[in-house]
Amino acid sequence: MAAKSYVCVKCGKPFLGAQAAMFVIGILSLFFWGIFLINIFTGLTDSYSQIEGTLIANEDVLLVSIMGAFLVPAVGSGALKGMSSKHGPNSRSMVCPKCKEAAANVAKEEQAKLQQAKEAKTWEWTTKVEDVEKNDVWAGKLISSWKSVNPGKVPSEAMVQDLNMARNLEKAGNYEGAAVILERYQFWEEAGRVRKLDDQKIIKHITVDMNELIDHVSTKGLAIPYKCRSCGASITIDKNSRKEGLKSCSYCGTMYNIEDMTKIIQRALE
Ligand SMILES: [Zn+2]
Ligand SMILES: [Zn+2]
Repeated sequence: MAAKSYVCVKCGKPFLGAQAAMFVIGILSLFFWGIFLINIFTGLTDSYSQIEGTLIANEDVLLVSIMGAFLVPAVGSGALKGMSSKHGPNSRSMVCPKCKEAAANVAKEEQAKLQQAKEAKTWEWTTKVEDVEKNDVWAGKLISSWKSVNPGKVPSEAMVQDLNMARNLEKAGNYEGAAVILERYQFWEEAGRVRKLDDQKIIKHITVDMNELIDHVSTKGLAIPYKCRSCGASITIDKNSRKEGLKSCSYCGTMYNIEDMTKIIQRALE
């Protein structure tokens, strides 16, 4: 169904003022066009003299009718546009004030419902966070300290998830990964604690390996030369070596690259 002009698209109520104006404009236009056409027609048939003194066959009337025929629709449609533009983008999509108000009320209610749902969700989350604070010793302590730095705020879901992730990474031995997450929320001390675990892991690992390697070197009766990267002084790794003695160069004091040394010993053992 094509939309009608100058009626409310919601309830169908006519815009009487605009419809009356349209009617008057139509009648006036028809009237002027009629006069204009009749004048042209009678002029062409050259019958001026017979009907002189009436609206017909009068030059002034012809002029006025031409003006009227063009001006009335132009001015009229402008005026109509002005009337309808208050109620809609064009004459076929106008909404009466009553329907406009109703629509606004519906939108308002919708907004209120959304707001309520949001508040309920926030409350639910706040309670959940409080639960974590009470029952989860590690995360709870971090959240409490975060709250003291951000008064009145609640940690985001993402943050609590990240904390769990950091905890799992620490369990898995990915200390650096855990530390990076903790730093994101400015838990500097906790990040530092986790990162130290990383150092311990490396030291432990290499210590064990180096002791084992020296054992192997000893049983195989090998003597492996190792050159200091810094001063070029050579040492020999053999059955008499102690892992403490393999930490730094006794000539220049530079710390040996343990990884590098491990590789050289392993190669000799193959
Ligand atoms: Zn309406
Ligand atoms: Zn050296």
